[in-house]
Amino acid sequence: MARYANIIVDISHEKLDKTFQYLIPDNLQKEVSVGVLAEIPFGNRSITGYVVELTDEPEFDVSRLKPITGVKKGSIPIESQLIALAAWMRKNYGGTMNQALKTVIPIKQKTRAIERKTLKLLLCNEEALRMLALFEARHFTAKARLLRELIAEGELDYAVVMQRLHIPAATVKSLQMQNIVEVKVFEEYRNPVNHLKSKGYHLTLNDRQQAVADHIIKDLDAGVAKTYLLKGVTGSGKTEVYMELIAHTIERGKQAIVLIPEIALTYQTVMRFYNRFGDKVSIMNSRLSQGERYDQYLRAKNGDIDIMIGPRSALFAPFSRLGLIIIDEEHEASYKSETVPRYHARETAIERAHMNGASVVLGSATPSVDSYYHAKEGRYELLELTERVQKKPLPACEVIDLREELKKGNRSILSEKLQILMEERLAKKQQIMLFLNRRGMAGFVSCRSCGYVVKCPHCDVSLSQHNASGGTEGSRMVCHYCGYEEPAPKICPSCGSKYISGFKAGTQKIEMLVKARFPQARVLRMDFDTTRTKDSYEQILQAFANQEADILVGTQMIVKGHDFPNVTLVGVLAADMSLHVSDFHAAERTFQLLTQAAGRAGRGQEPGDVIIQTYSPKHYAVLTSKEQNYEDFYEQEITYRRMMSYPPVWNLLVIMCASEQEQKLISAAAKMVKRLKYHMDNEELLKDEKIQMIGPADASVAKVNDIYRKVIYIKTKEYQKLVLLKERMEYYVQDNKDFQNISVQFDFNPMSSF
Ligand code: ADP
Ligand code: ZN
Ligand code: ZN
Repeated sequence: MARYANIIVDISHEKLDKTFQYLIPDNLQKEVSVGVLAEIPFGNRSITGYVVELTDEPEFDVSRLKPITGVKKGSIPIESQLIALAAWMRKNYGGTMNQALKTVIPIKQKTRAIERKTLKLLLCNEEALRMLALFEARHFTAKARLLRELIAEGELDYAVVMQRLHIPAATVKSLQMQNIVEVKVFEEYRNPVNHLKSKGYHLTLNDRQQAVADHIIKDLDAGVAKTYLLKGVTGSGKTEVYMELIAHTIERGKQAIVLIPEIALTYQTVMRFYNRFGDKVSIMNSRLSQGERYDQYLRAKNGDIDIMIGPRSALFAPFSRLGLIIIDEEHEASYKSETVPRYHARETAIERAHMNGASVVLGSATPSVDSYYHAKEGRYELLELTERVQKKPLPACEVIDLREELKKGNRSILSEKLQILMEERLAKKQQIMLFLNRRGMAGFVSCRSCGYVVKCPHCDVSLSQHNASGGTEGSRMVCHYCGYEEPAPKICPSCGSKYISGFKAGTQKIEMLVKARFPQARVLRMDFDTTRTKDSYEQILQAFANQEADILVGTQMIVKGHDFPNVTLVGVLAADMSLHVSDFHAAERTFQLLTQAAGRAGRGQEPGDVIIQTYSPKHYAVLTSKEQNYEDFYEQEITYRRMMSYPPVWNLLVIMCASEQEQKLISAAAKMVKRLKYHMDNEELLKDEKIQMIGPADASVAKVNDIYRKVIYIKTKEYQKLVLLKERMEYYVQDNKDFQNISVQFDFNPMSSF
């Protein structure tokens, strides 16, 4: 039994980001173990902290160590392996250990188990009948009613007794006291998927799917743990391959985690896994209640389930026999956390798998440039599915130059060709999806006379226009960073001109235009505004799947992995919106979105068509997605990344400093740059390395919520050098009064611009 516990206090502050040692008193020996949340004296108050290590080695003068006072009731202990993972995350992504521990523990609090109660008759039949006669004679009607029912049924559900038989709780209590009935209590797990009815599973993999599965299974059986990149065109049957691998993993007594972007985690997807694996599957996502989440955590921990499906955070499911991690749509930016620690689920999954001797399968039709690069370099093994299941052809793709449309006098957002095809599909009762690429487009309002743009007074961004009821009447301007709102101006505040208006069409505007142009069509819209309530997202998809609408208009939400067999036409209305954002991922995102959007067409019996409308018809992201040619895209993109020394060829660390006090921020950021230079010039490990540094510069959004932001960019080939610099800076800002009230955050290989 260890005598001392090393503890991370439950306060996220750089100064407290180290372990503190406490004595384990004899009476707590049983309760204190690695991962528990302990109650400890700290200064002159009592706080909590996570036990991360037990030891017999005192680090200080033992007489000065204070004892742990208790273990926090209702807290959830962290698995020791996840503590190790948290330490790795802290080192590689920054932030405090406390923040990292909070990340690997997906739920905060124990929730009361739900109870199911039953009533059981304790008397034999003869006695019961005698008692019933007695109750009836005395006009104890409620007691009599209950007893009669119990004589017939033997055991009754408590809820039924209360509701259907209208028996008051006092009556039950009284019969319980007389030893006539017994109340039995069962604890039950909430099960978010048990309302599903498994339809059973019948499907044989095709040769190519089988070959891919067999290849990985051979490695699994040989105990070889690896990371695979499964590149398979949309509709090539990747999900079936995943399920085959999972089945094999379970047969070997191991467990599997399946990561799916939250937005693609629909009823349809869950159902496929449920049909095959039934109650061995559970899901974890933000739509579950606190109690549901807690119970899924317990079911995973107790080994009641073998498969956990969920977004990024499901990676931390407390499985003890982890054998396989699958990351579907691995290119999705949502796998990178936007809060500290800013971890990437892909790298973290690989680390967790490594700790368990487990394997990782990354899957995508359009792999991230990062993953493909790693596959080419041999870090991942590349496997491919190059054809759609049952040899369904990929849709025919045409690029329309919007500048030419304008020259022809077509001022509509719908090109002539798209309109013709829409007419035709509507006549055939086939469905259409219209995709508006809104990434990087704020829907801002500007003055066409003087160029004035309406901006948020607290943040350095333009406000977006939201229309209350379709028209411009009553429309308001909203800041997507801080939520600030104001009514849309009718005249320009700067020059007084009345030509001030929303510049670009949003989904709402397009819905209106489409309805006007095709009055016979039923139109559904899916975007930020129509999916705010809990189930609205699923409802819209379901309605479209049930063919309750002919046209679905939407943002990127509609292109993610949904399978609508009756869709034969996809229109991309303005492909290049995402090309003009200040982020080196712009081309990659555009290629992925266009390819995924195109992949929605022709998944059923009828072949599909795709129309890509753009102002940049010659851009390689547009051209290669038209051809659905990933290789070509990749070659051009990696050449650019290599030339610019961008990830994945080099690694990039962004240090973001933020403060309300602008002057103080400017001087602190400058000092940090100086200090970084000092380390690069003097430190052995960094000296010879080619390191590029840019900054301090304004962040691309230089002010949010009245907080100013400056960024420093550092690029170098070796990731570990960046980790070293991060550690030096963490140390530098500690106890440094220049950095008081200045928040410093690190982001390794960021997925979005700063
Ligand atoms: P992906 O994940 O690559 O987009 P899916 O696994 O969703 O592809 O498969 C696309 C469609 O083809 C699904 O409807 C799936 O049920 C079906 N499918 C997959 N594999 C087979 C197969 N071997 N035989 C018949 N249908 C299949
Ligand atoms: Zn103006
Ligand atoms: Zn704002």
